Parts: sequence; C-alpha cells; structure tokens
Amino acid sequence: MIKIPFNNQYACLGGKFYSEVLPIPVSQPSLIKFNDELAHSVGLSVDDFDRDDISAVFSGNVIPDGAQPLAMAYSGHQFGNFSPQLGDGRAILLGDIKDEDGTSVSVQLKGCGRTHFSRNGDGRAALGPVLREYLVSEAMAKLNTPTTRALAAVATGEGVNRECLVPGGIITRTASSFVRIGTFQYFAAQGDTASVKQLADFVIEQNYPDVTESGQPYADLLVAVIKGQASLIAKWMQLGFIHGVMNTDNMSIAGETIDYGPCAFIDAYAHNQVFSSIDRGGRYAYNNQPNIGLWNLTRLAESLLPLLADTTDKAVDIAQGILESFTEEYERFWLSGMRLKCGLQAIENSDRDDKVLIESLLDIMHSNSADFTLTFRSLSQLKVEPGQGDDGIRDLFQNPLQFDEWGEKWRERVIQQDLDDVERQKIMQAVNPIYIPRNHQIEAAIRAAEDNADYSVFHDLHEVLQSPFVRQVNKASYQLPPEPEEIIHQTFCGT
Ligand code: AMP
Ligand code: MG
Repeated sequence: MIKIPFNNQYACLGGKFYSEVLPIPVSQPSLIKFNDELAHSVGLSVDDFDRDDISAVFSGNVIPDGAQPLAMAYSGHQFGNFSPQLGDGRAILLGDIKDEDGTSVSVQLKGCGRTHFSRNGDGRAALGPVLREYLVSEAMAKLNTPTTRALAAVATGEGVNRECLVPGGIITRTASSFVRIGTFQYFAAQGDTASVKQLADFVIEQNYPDVTESGQPYADLLVAVIKGQASLIAKWMQLGFIHGVMNTDNMSIAGETIDYGPCAFIDAYAHNQVFSSIDRGGRYAYNNQPNIGLWNLTRLAESLLPLLADTTDKAVDIAQGILESFTEEYERFWLSGMRLKCGLQAIENSDRDDKVLIESLLDIMHSNSADFTLTFRSLSQLKVEPGQGDDGIRDLFQNPLQFDEWGEKWRERVIQQDLDDVERQKIMQAVNPIYIPRNHQIEAAIRAAEDNADYSVFHDLHEVLQSPFVRQVNKASYQLPPEPEEIIHQTFCGT
C-alpha cells in the first residue's frame, strides 16, 4: 500500500473553505506515467510500489490512509468577468504533506469526478489535456520556472464527452499551494473578512513564513506575492510561454504556474501571439501577460483591503503604493533574465541601452517570424568575431541583413565585457533551452495516445524535456519548429 505522510493543513481551515468529496471510481485505471523523482522528493515511500497500487491511488479508486479528500472553494475573474462561485469542479485535494526540507506540498487529483462545484461539468478530464499538462508542467520545472508538478497520469479506461467521445484521464499534481487569487476573492466578495484573514494567515504560515517577522504581515504578504508573480511572468516571457487563461482563479498565491489549459510556447515569434481558441480579444496574448499579472494582483489587493488598515482610504493608499512596485519588479526581473539570454553583463548605466537593444532583437524576430527558442539558442553559439558561425542565426530571419545589423550592435556591446566567447556562451546556454515542449510535438504525443493507445511518443518527448539545455544524441528533430502542415494555430482548454 502506498504511504503518503499527509498532515492536511488546508482541511484544518474549516468547512467554509471547501466541500468534502470522494473521487468517483473509474472502471479500468491504467498507469501511464509516475514521477518517481518527485515522489521521492516529497517523501512518498515508493520503493515497493507496484503499478496496480499506483494506478488505484492516482485514479481515485483507492483513498490512501490519512488523506482527507476535498474540493476547494474559490471565485474568479474569467476574462475580466467576476464569477462568485467556481471552485474545484473536477479536482480533489487528497491532502497536504511536508517535503524533506519542511516545505508544504499539496497533492491533488484532477479529472476524478463531480464535486459540489462542478456546475454543468462532468468532473472529468480528457486524456489529451492530461498528457499536455504532464509534459508542459514537467518541462517548466526543468526550465527552472516555478510550477505545479505532475506526479502521475492515469488513463481511466472510460470515455468522456467533448464534442465527441474521447478517452478520459486523471492527472495528479503537486503544488506549494492550490490557493489562488480567486480563493481570496471568494471570501472578500461575501464580505467575510474573518475568513480572508484566516486564509491570509494560512498562506503566510505555509508559503511566506518570513512575513510573520514584520509588524505588517498582510502588506508584506502582498509585497511578496507581487514579487513572485513579477518574477514568474518575466520567466514566461523569457521562454516565449503563453499561459493562455490568466483568470484570477488560475493564478497561484505561491507564484507557481498553475492550470495548464490552452497554454503554448511560441515558435515563430510575434509580440501579440495568442493560441487559445477562447481568447478572442487577445486579453491573454504574449505581450499582455505582464499587464494582466498586475490586473490580477490588483484584485488580490482589493480582497486584502480590510486587513491592510482600519479605514478604507488608508488601506487603498497602502495597496496602491505596493501595487506600484509590480512594474518596477517585473522590469528588473525581465531585464536581468534577458541579459543572461543575450550574454550581457550589467555594466554601469547600461540598463536603458540594454533594454533598447533587447527589444530591438524582439522587434526584428517579430518582423521576420524568427523562431523564439532557436534564435536565442543560436545567439548563444555566436562568437564576438563575425564569421561562418553566424549562418545558423541568420537563417532564422527572412531578411538576414536585419539580423546582421542587430548583430553588429550586439557585438559592440559584448566586446566591452570582460568575458571571452566560451565564458559568455556557457552563461547563455544555461538559460537558452534547446528543447521546449513545442505545440506540434505535444499534439503528436496526444494523437498517438488517443488514437492508438500508443504512449511511446509521449514518453520519448518527456525524456528529451528532462534536460532542455543539454544537446542530446539523435534528438535533433525535437529542436525543430513545425513544418507548415504541422503548425498548431489554436489550442483548446479541453474542459
Ligand atoms: P479551468 O478553465 O480549467 O481553470 O476551469 C474553470 C472552472 O471550471 C473551474 O472551477 C473548474 O473546476 C471548472 N471546470 C472545468 N472543467 C470542468 C469539468 N469538466 N467538470 C466540472 N468542472 C469543470
Ligand atoms: Mg482553473
């Protein structure tokens, strides 16, 4: 039997915060993938696990000892419109544990049947989105970007209805917290300040213990969450990642990427790229993500107002002051990350010029539809002396002369640094991945799994994404952008 050392802190908050519910068993669970490395790191005793045990537990058919299954309550602004009651309509928190360093880890099944919050939904997940979330969240972890992790993926053996009948799946994911901005909004919208405070105290204890030291823990909590989101969104931008559905219910209080729906990595770069079929106005377009981050954090600040000061005017002043830090923090994270990508060391008074230089690279990538990932990786190969080594990057531009012009300015800048080619390349190659989960490759993995129950494409892709910065033998095809007929123009939530 699988042992998970649950201590279920969230359940201690009381019934207002969740609804108790048991997963609904599925007929023929079969394990697709189990994340041994993650299991070990969170203290699951896995050595004597057998596959049947694992698929029974991570399909929800068997509830492990000590679990206290529940669906969390939350609200959310979806595409700017407030929904007072969303909640886990198809996810069930099994419980919380402390990992080997004493940090909290929550374990959740997604796709395991209806809950109190399901509304018209069936509580299930299709296999395709389960595989997508597994691949992309694990890739994000290896790309050093805060994220929920995938612990297991199981095929249910049952069909789910999504326009047509498709195979069902269940993903088990872990997070530092499944509390969302929308969880705060849920209580704030009801004017239930006591519960907002209880939730804030819980989040501080679980995720921001340093904040308790200060005399103003709630203001400092807001500061810390803002910093985490600014850093996270800067990382997304540096990877060409588009979350796709940055509703406030999909924004983690712990600063992790959460709820992988119609997300995607950009191939041919465009500033305003959108993939999600439901994002018709481009609210969650690539270059709008920082603005939306601030918009979402403003909703969090509003929810926390009663905890910030004893009058609303004072609280609004405090909140506004803190929210103003977002743009500065974001710009700082963005610039420092982009400098690494471009091999630029911060030198005195170079912030403005570096920003202009980096933005002008993005501009020519946009006008030349250059592949985002390959451009930065190829830049990491360049030497300070122009030569044949430039061919790789020039070929990515429809008009290579535009790159030449930019490359000249870049060379004038890097020559001022006390770094030789090898040192600079090493720094750049550690942040510019070779392999990302490209949309067409994810699609190929899903097609093989759904159409032929063939998981080999999924497993192979997953394996390559374990080491995104290291060139792997015979894996060149994984770094290639899609052929014209392979291009994915739209992604779907699959809910
Ligand atoms: P999402 O867009 O996946 O973040 O989901 C938004 C809301 O819809 C959340 O409250 C989900 O729990 C709920 N939801 C999404 N899909 C389903 C489903 N198939 N059954 C029940 N609830 C769902
Ligand atoms: Mg969600």
